[in-house]
Amino acid sequence: MKYVSTRGQSPALNFEDTMLTGLAPDGGLYVPESVPVFDAEQIAKLHGDDYESLAFKVMRPFTGDTFTDAEFEEIIARAYQNFGHIARAPLKQMDRGLWLMELFHGPTLAFKDFAMQLIGQMFQTVLERRGERITIVGATSGDTGSAAIEAFRGLENVDVCILYPHGRVSEVQRRQMTTPSEANVHALAVEGTFDDCQRHLKDMFADDAFRTDVRLAAVNSINWARVLAQVVYYWWASAALGDGTRKLSFTVPTGNFGDIYAGFIAKRMGLDVDRLVVATNQNDILRRALTTGAYEVGEVAPSISPSMDIQVSSNFERLLFDALGRDGDVVQSLMNDLKTNGAFHIPENARAYLAQHFDADMASEDETRDQITQTFEDTGELVCPHTAVGLDVAATHLDIATPMVALATAHPAKFPDAVEAATGIRPPLPKHMADLYDRSERVTQVDNDLAAIQKIIRGKRAK
Ligand SMILES: *Cc1c(COP(=O)(O)O)cnc(C)c1O
Repeated sequence: MKYVSTRGQSPALNFEDTMLTGLAPDGGLYVPESVPVFDAEQIAKLHGDDYESLAFKVMRPFTGDTFTDAEFEEIIARAYQNFGHIARAPLKQMDRGLWLMELFHGPTLAFKDFAMQLIGQMFQTVLERRGERITIVGATSGDTGSAAIEAFRGLENVDVCILYPHGRVSEVQRRQMTTPSEANVHALAVEGTFDDCQRHLKDMFADDAFRTDVRLAAVNSINWARVLAQVVYYWWASAALGDGTRKLSFTVPTGNFGDIYAGFIAKRMGLDVDRLVVATNQNDILRRALTTGAYEVGEVAPSISPSMDIQVSSNFERLLFDALGRDGDVVQSLMNDLKTNGAFHIPENARAYLAQHFDADMASEDETRDQITQTFEDTGELVCPHTAVGLDVAATHLDIATPMVALATAHPAKFPDAVEAATGIRPPLPKHMADLYDRSERVTQVDNDLAAIQKIIRGKRAK
């Protein structure tokens, strides 16, 4: 299995190098050269599996000879052992023809744990074998940083430094980053905004000496291995609601397009998917792009579903590559338009391709709040604002002949203020996290200054 860049200018890599490289040198994203297709017999064999066994079968064709079967089984077992639910991704019926797939039972209570926990174990296995040690640096507005710290804590061959804007993340998010006590993970509170943190991160990657010195690596959502981990639960839903052959639709609260793109990969592997519905909040660049063909960057308007507040949806480039007949030159020229004009137009033939598979809709802030209230009244369930965006959109895309699975991307306790405002109930933390407010915190404050941040990262690594 080889991976190629969406911009067509970088050499093809195997799975191991794809995972360690992240972004392709030509600026593109790696995608499989061809997607393996499961036949009826392979699909039938997924039925009745536990999550880990199903994950092994779904992901194995993509990993080539990077891991032995025994290694890969061990990696998967360790990745999901700290989840708070035996089913890992349980499905709950919400209405006639509507199910919620709960992806928030991981250690940081958001779906990003599915990919990050797996990638942590995969990195450790590969680096140990190579005798290498790397430094992962990330910038976060909340969910990604806590998922990364949780996933890499205590791993021998990796140091992790996460930059977050001081005073601008929720208390749950901050505590998830600052309470792990392992010496290889570090939360850096930067006196600045999230954009400052991201800018410093970019500058660190552009600084060749620093990059080589600390063996800098990233695990942001463009890493192919993260997409792969998310393909699994689309198959899981299908095995849970039928025998893997029943046609389903999915609604996915969407920001960077990584999660729903994984659903598209599952479909290309042979999963019987009717519609993939993109649900956005008021930052609806994807809805506009899919309905009008114009991908136009605007200003980010902060919302109550902050993990979906984006301007540019990086993983969309992967889908564009397919929609454009896998022509890297065309992708490159559209991305140049985006860079120079802040916009590009999706060509007609590509729009037709997208329309075959995807629908898109948005939920306003009011609709999101109303949906949290309505869901509680109808079902007694508390849902987080991101999940509510999905449920609001799913309601208008129901087709009784085809079960709809809406993805619940975060636990309501991760966004307690919005949930309490809409329902009058403050959602409690689940059992495995109940003492979060009692654990002691460890954080390094740092000026909003690249040199100061680099000095701290070098120092942390030395220890
Ligand atoms: C990251 C995130 C999303 C958006 O997922 P993408 O893969 O970026 O589209 C939605 N909801 C929550 C809670 C998230 O943390």
